[in-house]
Amino acid sequence: MSGTNPSDAASGPRPGVPQAGVKGVGEDPREQDRDVAEAPGKIWFRDLDEAVIEADRCIQCASCVAACPSDSIGIDEDEGRPTLVKMCTGCSRCWDFCPRSGLRYERHLELTRAERGLEEPVTYAARATGDTAEAGQDGGVVTALLAALIEGGELDGAVVARECDDDPLRGEAFLATSREDLLEAGGSIYNQTMGLGQIETLLADAAIGTDDPDLALVGTPCMIQGATALDRYDHAPADPIALTVALMCTRSFEHSRLVSRLESFGVDPDAVDTLDISDGRLRAVDGNGESLLESAVDAFDAAGLRGCDECADLVGGAADISVGNVGSEDGYTTAIVRTETGEAAWNRAVAGGLETTAIDRPAALERVAEWNRRRAESILPREYDPDDSIGISYEHHRAAYDGTDREPEPLNPARVHQYEEWC
Ligand SMILES: Cc1cc2nc3c(=O)[nH]c(=O)nc-3n(C[C@H](O)[C@H](O)[C@H](O)COP(=O)(O)OP(=O)(O)OC[C@H]3O[C@@H](n4cnc5c(N)ncnc54)[C@H](O)[C@@H]3O)c2cc1C
Ligand code: SF4
Ligand code: SF4
Repeated sequence: MSGTNPSDAASGPRPGVPQAGVKGVGEDPREQDRDVAEAPGKIWFRDLDEAVIEADRCIQCASCVAACPSDSIGIDEDEGRPTLVKMCTGCSRCWDFCPRSGLRYERHLELTRAERGLEEPVTYAARATGDTAEAGQDGGVVTALLAALIEGGELDGAVVARECDDDPLRGEAFLATSREDLLEAGGSIYNQTMGLGQIETLLADAAIGTDDPDLALVGTPCMIQGATALDRYDHAPADPIALTVALMCTRSFEHSRLVSRLESFGVDPDAVDTLDISDGRLRAVDGNGESLLESAVDAFDAAGLRGCDECADLVGGAADISVGNVGSEDGYTTAIVRTETGEAAWNRAVAGGLETTAIDRPAALERVAEWNRRRAESILPREYDPDDSIGISYEHHRAAYDGTDREPEPLNPARVHQYEEWC
């Protein structure tokens, strides 16, 4: 693709619809000259911060971190959120690629399907065998798939998640380059890891032995939205990503709030070996397989990311392959193979021993996806419209969100000094 920012290059801008990233004007001048460095009416990271992070709508997908061409956005390690780490140039890319502000993610999903999707995506129930099955959350399919691709030389590594050594149940981004790494990283981590924003650092630390690596990126659907949008508009951070795997998702959690909530039920987070959320239940199990807690997941609502309420992408529609447990028996993973890249990877894993069969309850998957879409439509202050322009301008966002409980919040005074220093 030739564009630099989301502007709906594939379908063309719609008359009268504000374009992305321009404050104070109705049309994006970069439609005429996309290389203008200093467009009038800049969007600064501060604008994104107030509209998304301070407004408690950030879903920690790290798209803004990856999109920033001057590496001005880093990750606050305590909060796991984006933060300004050096001067912001006001280029607006963080706004343009953020699925909670400038990127109309439902349009991006439509475009991705049209550009890359198989005519008929195929849905399976599948399970791994042996060590990968044991390491996995459901059928161990992701672990087995990635192991087959790395061992077969098709991938140099995979950006996945593993539990931090010193912080129980907290996941961090991890670049797995071997079966052993993948076995260590198997299972679900119920917080965001911002892996998309760390690919360069992970590669630098891993000494992977090639300047042009092919990696898989595993993550929640919103992270895959950001990665694939960056790929469409030809941004370098997406270059190493050769395969995307989305973990189906209706909600992710704030690690500290999740842990506090478990403690309020008398569960010691250090004692939890496996946490599982499926069928509307949260289960915590210790290292001996003894149940520590089983509860309705609704009891953990307050620990969830509030921005997840605006998400209709349960199935990770931008990914090459999506995986979850909805619709399959225990011990199986539901997998949707959506692109030719996904199909080639899937066939490799099947040749490597992955067992596949038909999904047991396709209607259950459809029901949850429909529920998820309706939730988003009812909560999004803006219109949910897969046919509208991919870019949402700052003005358009403000017009929809101001006066709602999701309106931009003034910057936290504790952080104002960062902006005074750098902007
Ligand atoms: C926050 C979250 C919410 C989910 N919600 C649902 C849901 O509502 N419905 C549903 O059907 N499925 C949901 N899933 C997916 C499900 O829990 C399993 O991940 C999926 O079924 C794959 O199982 P598996 O055994 O094939 O994967 P595994 O073989 O266990 O491999 C999973 C891979 O994903 C990586 N990973 C785990 N957590 C993360 C993370 N947070 N960020 C990046 N990489 C990660 C692991 O490191 C591992 O490599 C959710 C997952 C997450 C992380
Ligand atoms: S939602 Fe994603 S892109 Fe938007 S501010 Fe948060 S991390 Fe950045
Ligand atoms: S529910 Fe949507 S926004 Fe929230 S973590 Fe999952 S994919 Fe991201």
